[in-house]
Amino acid sequence: MARGILVTGGATGIGLAVARHFADEGETVVITGRRQAPLEAAAKEIGATAVVCDHTDPQAVARLLPRLPGRLDVLVNNAGGNTDFDTPEGVGGDGGDGATPEALEAFARAFRANLDANLLSAALTTKAVEGRLAPGGAVVSIGSIAADKGSGAYGAAKAGLASWNLGLARELGPRGITANVVAPGYIADTEFFRDHLTAERRAQLIGSTAVGRAGTPGDIAGAVAFLASEAARDITAQVLNVNGGERGTR
Ligand code: NDP
Repeated sequence: MARGILVTGGATGIGLAVARHFADEGETVVITGRRQAPLEAAAKEIGATAVVCDHTDPQAVARLLPRLPGRLDVLVNNAGGNTDFDTPEGVGGDGGDGATPEALEAFARAFRANLDANLLSAALTTKAVEGRLAPGGAVVSIGSIAADKGSGAYGAAKAGLASWNLGLARELGPRGITANVVAPGYIADTEFFRDHLTAERRAQLIGSTAVGRAGTPGDIAGAVAFLASEAARDITAQVLNVNGGERGTR
């Protein structure tokens, strides 16, 4: 029987590779995202169902529920990214210098945006669907090597995701459902960096791996597929690092 699978943020990058993997296996896949056009194009390409949803918005997540399969076997909390990259200044442009009320307001807004995008989005979505998760199912959330690198609000949000996952694993375990985090290092061919990745920084990221290559969305899809498979039924409450051997402190 085909499994019911929700991949959040499934129109591009890692989410698209994960969704494609499951669709190619014959599973029933729903993908979400905020932008309708790329979402629908991706769904058509891989044979999935597209539902527009902002996973930071409780109302939008509630509206998603009737569009999902009644039985959900796998939830992949992939939607997210470093929201600092959405500003022209990039990381570090979150509030400017000084402690004026305006600067502090801007700092708080930027900080919360990362927490919402990467931590609340996963918790909210899981809360909404946990009642329909099937025994033997899996929740896989996409963390980041940034959680171990002191990477501002983004890294803190991904570290929080790993911490939240521990409680989730305890809660879902008695129902035979696993909960794990896959923490990628630098993954090429996604929209993650917007236009903020210089050639020098890319070379530096690749150079800090043991294997001397950029990770691919397919690398992460393979790890997610494993954690959602029969072979991983005794693996829960873990963070699986997929980073080509990059050391956490570099
Ligand atoms: P992309 O930007 O290509 O993918 C992110 C996807 O999530 C987009 O399709 C985006 O679509 C969607 N999305 C973002 N926010 C929301 C939201 N609030 N609600 C619904 N959909 C949302 O980048 P990646 O594929 O690289 O990122 C996937 C995950 O991997 C992220 O969680 C990211 O933090 C993580 N990661 C990526 C790394 C990398 O090097 N690429 C490294 C470590 C972790 P839309 O904008 O239309 O909503």
